[in-house]
Amino acid sequence: MLQQAQALLTQTYGYDEFRPGQQDIIKTALEGDDVLVLMPTGGGKSLCYQIPALIRPGIGLVISPLIALMQDQVSSLNQLGINAAFLNSTLDQQQKRELVASMERRELQLLYIAPERLMQPQTLQWLQSFEISLIAIDEAHCVSQWGHDFRKDYLLLHQLREVFPTVPRMALTATATPRSQLDIVQNLQLQQPKTFVNSFDRPNIRYSVALKNDARKQLIRFIAQHKEECGVVYCLSRKKVESTAAWLVTRGLTALPYHAGLPVEQRAENLERFLREDGIIMVATVAFGMGIDKPDVRFVAHLDLPKSMEAYYQETGRAGRDGEPADAWMIYGLNDVVQLSQMVDRSPASEDHKRNERQKLDALLGWCEVTQCRRQPLLAYFGEPAPEPCGNCDTCLTPPKTWDATEAARKLLSCVYRTGQRFGAGQVIDVLRGKETDKVIGHQHHQLSCFGVGQDLSPERCSSIVRQLLVRGFLVADAERYGALTLTDSARPLLRGEVSLFLREDSRESLLKHKKIRKHTHVSDEDASLWDQLRACRKTLADENGIPPYQVFHDATLMEMMEMHPSSDSELLQISGVGEKKLEKFGDAFLEVINQHLLSQA
Ligand code: ADP
Ligand code: ZN
Repeated sequence: MLQQAQALLTQTYGYDEFRPGQQDIIKTALEGDDVLVLMPTGGGKSLCYQIPALIRPGIGLVISPLIALMQDQVSSLNQLGINAAFLNSTLDQQQKRELVASMERRELQLLYIAPERLMQPQTLQWLQSFEISLIAIDEAHCVSQWGHDFRKDYLLLHQLREVFPTVPRMALTATATPRSQLDIVQNLQLQQPKTFVNSFDRPNIRYSVALKNDARKQLIRFIAQHKEECGVVYCLSRKKVESTAAWLVTRGLTALPYHAGLPVEQRAENLERFLREDGIIMVATVAFGMGIDKPDVRFVAHLDLPKSMEAYYQETGRAGRDGEPADAWMIYGLNDVVQLSQMVDRSPASEDHKRNERQKLDALLGWCEVTQCRRQPLLAYFGEPAPEPCGNCDTCLTPPKTWDATEAARKLLSCVYRTGQRFGAGQVIDVLRGKETDKVIGHQHHQLSCFGVGQDLSPERCSSIVRQLLVRGFLVADAERYGALTLTDSARPLLRGEVSLFLREDSRESLLKHKKIRKHTHVSDEDASLWDQLRACRKTLADENGIPPYQVFHDATLMEMMEMHPSSDSELLQISGVGEKKLEKFGDAFLEVINQHLLSQA
């Protein structure tokens, strides 16, 4: 059976070898055991359930939370010549009849279905009349109430164990926290599942976090490093999504908004364009993302902080699924810290839940301020050791300086104390710097002994200190009192001068020069022209077939063609990503392009 798996990999998918983990996972499923797969985005989870489902007799059921995701996967599989379909509300009567007919003829190999649809009693009953080869539960962390994507319908899935007692189940997720892992096994009632945990490192993603000073200008400078490439810009609010997208358009970029408040048709259209065109920037709230399988997203930018490390990892994980270099870039400042803390504190959730949220936010804020390699604490958060600094994050590339902030912090803390712990950062900083504003005089703060003790400190430096004191837990911004700064217990030893404090120096020029390391930028002019022709050929074929370009071939496949200059079917089959079906469909067109190119060079 393993030979069959290998044959499918090379002939149908066109890949040379399995990625780490894939083969063992496939083997376990083929033996009929339950499996839990934890693998980062882009790791190659889909193959892990598709191949055993294709080999075992019967229909493979794939449970997937989103319609868009199903359609994309099914369309990709059809390009490979695999008989896959989805069952959801978008099908009309005719399509449904065809689906049923193909199931009855035992032709259908994979059926994608949403949990709420699957768990309807009549659907379950109907499916029981078919042989089922395997049940794959994708995005399985949706079953965890503590996670960020909890879906009620996922909780019903434990019934599958009784309905299909002999069918192996495979749960897959890119969320790695031990908590969600436990929830998945329990709530799905997996039976002694074999668990496979792959490294969660995404070495091709470069992480950087910078201080926000002029968000739009910083964003434009960042995007300029990704000319004509696709990316996502995340914002917290719908309003900001729209204004940012509109503004990018005025700067000559193709930017589209995406948030849950847009009409369904517009959302669908924007998503469609993002998938099919080159160089689209999607400006979005977190409503955009789960299940976006586009492999060539070259950057993810955060103009606002996400709520947790999990959310950050998930959102940035949408970059670089194809393994090519990609950027995860984020900017934030004091206001973001105060605002987000208040949002958590003011939420109507239970105290337990709020404490949980608070801890998650604190972990993220702490990570923003790290002075060592960013990848190490990121992976550590998910329980994975990373011994070496990565060399591909902002702190590795330009290590931040630290400075002795003991004195300055003491002065600031004493201003907080002497103004009665009733004021926000603005007033405290004015008192510290000795500014006689109306509000300062109104409260007679100019008569305090601490007034002006920090005259020598610039406003930027002061807000950097407040931000870092908040993040490190010396101060809290009280949500009940409009963000009034209050001291915590850990502030005391610092105020009394018993401990010293080093803080991170905020770099002024926060943008890293991004060294282009993508392969095609290293090629000669003539190869560059071949690259353009290959891409044009791909776009034409994609449009003719009504599919996104990456479903014809990935960038990596085109790059290999550009380097290898295949001139026959058998040479083309050697290229990674070219399987038999795609050779038949698209092979001639690409061979023609390469041939013409070689002739013009001769
Ligand atoms: P995930 O679901 O884990 O995010 P996918 O299953 O979508 O990842 O796979 C990511 C990309 O890697 C896809 O383009 C897929 O075709 C490709 N891929 C998967 N397995 C292999 C392999 N063994 N060799 C080469 N490419 C692979
Ligand atoms: Zn690093």
